[in-house]
Amino acid sequence: MDNEQVDVVIAGGGPGGLNAALVLGRSLKKVLVIDEDRPRNSATLRSHGFLTRDGASPDEIREIAREQLKTYPNVTFIKDVVEDVERKNGLFIVKTKNGKMASGRKMIFATGMKDHLPDIPGLDKVYGKTVFHCPYCDGWERQHDPIALFADGKALLPFVKLIFNWSKDLIVFSNGPAGITAEEKKQLMHYNIQLIETPIANLQSTDGQLENVVLQNGDSIRRTGGFMASTGEQQGSSLPARLGIRLNDQHEYVTGQHGQTEIKDLFIIGDAKNTFTSLVGAASQGYEAAVKINGDFAAENWADGLKTTSH
Ligand SMILES: Cc1cc2nc3c(=O)[nH]c(=O)nc-3n(C[C@H](O)[C@H](O)[C@H](O)COP(=O)(O)OP(=O)(O)OC[C@H]3O[C@@H](n4cnc5c(N)ncnc54)[C@H](O)[C@@H]3O)c2cc1C
Repeated sequence: MDNEQVDVVIAGGGPGGLNAALVLGRSLKKVLVIDEDRPRNSATLRSHGFLTRDGASPDEIREIAREQLKTYPNVTFIKDVVEDVERKNGLFIVKTKNGKMASGRKMIFATGMKDHLPDIPGLDKVYGKTVFHCPYCDGWERQHDPIALFADGKALLPFVKLIFNWSKDLIVFSNGPAGITAEEKKQLMHYNIQLIETPIANLQSTDGQLENVVLQNGDSIRRTGGFMASTGEQQGSSLPARLGIRLNDQHEYVTGQHGQTEIKDLFIIGDAKNTFTSLVGAASQGYEAAVKINGDFAAENWADGLKTTSH
């Protein structure tokens, strides 16, 4: 089993990991990116809100990024899964599913989140096509449409207020008791927003186009688009938790400003750090972490040099 030694190992090759690799590569660092290539946004056909890439498919964006990284021979990209990480003698020793071993002086987790959608028959056929989570990503295309809003509890009213920006034709489906106060129900009524608490039987659609929300009492309600307050997101990788990194109540890893963690030289960026960072947000965090890491290397190498006899 080979043991590749690099400056930085990056687990995850979404916009976070790839932008970190780009900036570290340009900083003359030896970088290994290991990516399972199963991003959570693969459910969608087009991505929006990323300057110069508005409307591109998720695959296209990753493909362009990987192609541009080929300019830097000091950056290696492999498709594989990081299965184990151990901290030993100041190094991160990484083992992959395909049996590769590598060690890095510093490590970035950019392993994203995975969605665990609620168990509503038919949801898998429309999610990412006409039913979404993020209005900044997909609200423009659904403006003024008859929208089904799937939400309950504390998240319900804030989500309604947000989506109301794009369409006033909203019906809220809480799929059981809504868990909101009488005052909140009054506010929905004020804006003529119907709240339906009857459990959902299924979502009817054709080729990803939502048509009807069918309730367990047999009613069928026409809606052509939808937004969900929660996609049941969980961490893409539990390895940082195994290393001792804490999760907050949003299931995000607790990190510092540039993705630093309580473990020296270990960084976490992107959705793993902020549930729904966005493409440009994750890329930006990759940039920031890379700048911090390269600055740390520069300072450490300078200090090490001072310990040696001058020429
Ligand atoms: C349906 C949907 C549509 C979206 N649309 C938009 C949009 O239009 N515009 C926008 O800005 N944002 C959009 N987003 C959000 C955006 O996709 C994320 O915020 C962004 O991709 C996060 O980047 P990331 O690098 O943190 O993680 P990801 O892009 O999720 O990448 C993480 C990578 O790490 C890999 N990985 C996980 N564990 C391991 C492991 N152990 N070893 C190796 N690899 C591993 C995964 O397979 C994946 O390839 C959308 C999200 C969803 C779910």
